[in-house]
Amino acid sequence: MNWKKTYEAMYVAPSRIVGQGLYAGTSIKAKAKIGEFEGEQVSIREARRRAKTKEVIAIVECGLYALDATDSKRGFRFINHSCDPNTFTRVTDTRAEFYALRDIRKGEELTVDYEESHHNGQLPCQCGAKNCRGKI
Ligand SMILES: [Zn+2]
Repeated sequence: MNWKKTYEAMYVAPSRIVGQGLYAGTSIKAKAKIGEFEGEQVSIREARRRAKTKEVIAIVECGLYALDATDSKRGFRFINHSCDPNTFTRVTDTRAEFYALRDIRKGEELTVDYEESHHNGQLPCQCGAKNCRGKI
């Protein structure tokens, strides 16, 4: 399936992990592209300044600049962290693309491992995975 259709089919709903989550509106095959992180283009320096002043952080750093999706009403800013995720990102100089790590069922919550997030390992993780690292 065209990834844009997969992207358009995603929806936001209450999460079992925390707050709102992002869900697959269609089944997705392993390794298929799901979509791209959408946000305001800002410099990496500006992104790090913003990250210090916000409680909810929805910023991704690419190679050349950062994308701030804090004001976005849809898309990957709603994806929750899991230590056992079903998606992964491929970051280029200008984009952050999301791909399925395994087959994903329609209605499944999408998760990603935040790895190097702006939280720097200070937040308790609530993902519930067997291999949970305990902190984000
Ligand atoms: Zn965890």
